[in-house]
Amino acid sequence: RAKAKSRGSISLFEPEMDQQIRDRRVLHQDLSVAIRNGELSLYYQPQATSGATVATSEVIGFEALARWQHPLRGFVSPADFIPLAEESGLIVEMGQWILREACREAASWPVPLQIAVNLSPAQFMHGDVVSLVHSILLETGLAPDRLELEITEGVLIEDFDRGLALLRRLKALGVRISMDDFGSGYSSLSYLQAFPFDKIKIDRAFVMNLGRNPQSAAIVRAVIDLGHGLEMSIVAEGVETQEQLSFLSEEGCDAVQGYFIGKPFPIGKYATLVGRSDGDVIVVEPARKTG
Ligand code: C2E
Ligand code: MG
Ligand code: MG
Ligand code: MG
Repeated sequence: RAKAKSRGSISLFEPEMDQQIRDRRVLHQDLSVAIRNGELSLYYQPQATSGATVATSEVIGFEALARWQHPLRGFVSPADFIPLAEESGLIVEMGQWILREACREAASWPVPLQIAVNLSPAQFMHGDVVSLVHSILLETGLAPDRLELEITEGVLIEDFDRGLALLRRLKALGVRISMDDFGSGYSSLSYLQAFPFDKIKIDRAFVMNLGRNPQSAAIVRAVIDLGHGLEMSIVAEGVETQEQLSFLSEEGCDAVQGYFIGKPFPIGKYATLVGRSDGDVIVVEPARKTG
């Protein structure tokens, strides 16, 4: 294909490109009405302490993950529509909806359970994220220490000073901040030193290769030590096997998230979270039908 292109047969590609551009335009229009039409929803994926087995791993909270059920196309991945929403500015409205919906849901959970919400770069850097978080906490009654905001380090590259100021103001509200996808991008140790993260989420790519390649094991081990040295807690993303869980548990990783622990699911529709009175066991029960 690349060869054909370099020979000047570029016209072959134009209709395809055109189609892509039209496609994006249509998808963008669809996205702008998706919230109003109730096509957007949140799934929740458990985060648990890293026990030796799933049975001994205790659920400590959930990460909210956006889902778009398009009326004609079916499921559209957030990896596709979040960037689209960013480009078009729709992310502001969408991000507000996501944060409000996640906090409202979490406010009904047993108290120790926490909610993690992803903030996109545009949402973080260009909106008034501090007053948004503040007003949604007031509105939903969710205690600030039950909310965790996930940002990727790329967000902070754009404007170091503004990024730092925003993180400090968010932390002053009492919410926690985690660095998502650590190790996947422009990860630099200076970010860990400069920014007051509470948590590091080790990117799935490293976890995936645990047991397959010794380098990944060395990196994961080092990130756990590094994070602990900085008084940050560590979550491993994308845990899919018992072998990975065992490794993370033995290395003292604080928490785990991944298909092996639980896939993202729509809590409101299918389940109710119930906390036992001893406070340390959380059970997910089938939703009770109301009304
Ligand atoms: P993320 O924040 O790093 O979320 C983790 C992604 O890994 C999720 O994909 C989750 O479903 C997937 N995952 C979890 N466990 C496993 C596993 O064991 N194996 C594999 N293969 N995958 C696993 P998802 O839901 O498709 O989201 C992709 C990305 O889209 C997220 O990455 C996040 O960056 C973004 N995103 C999702 N929801 C939101 C949102 O509400 N707001 C913003 N700003 N971004 C969002
Ligand atoms: Mg995340
Ligand atoms: Mg991640
Ligand atoms: Mg990711």
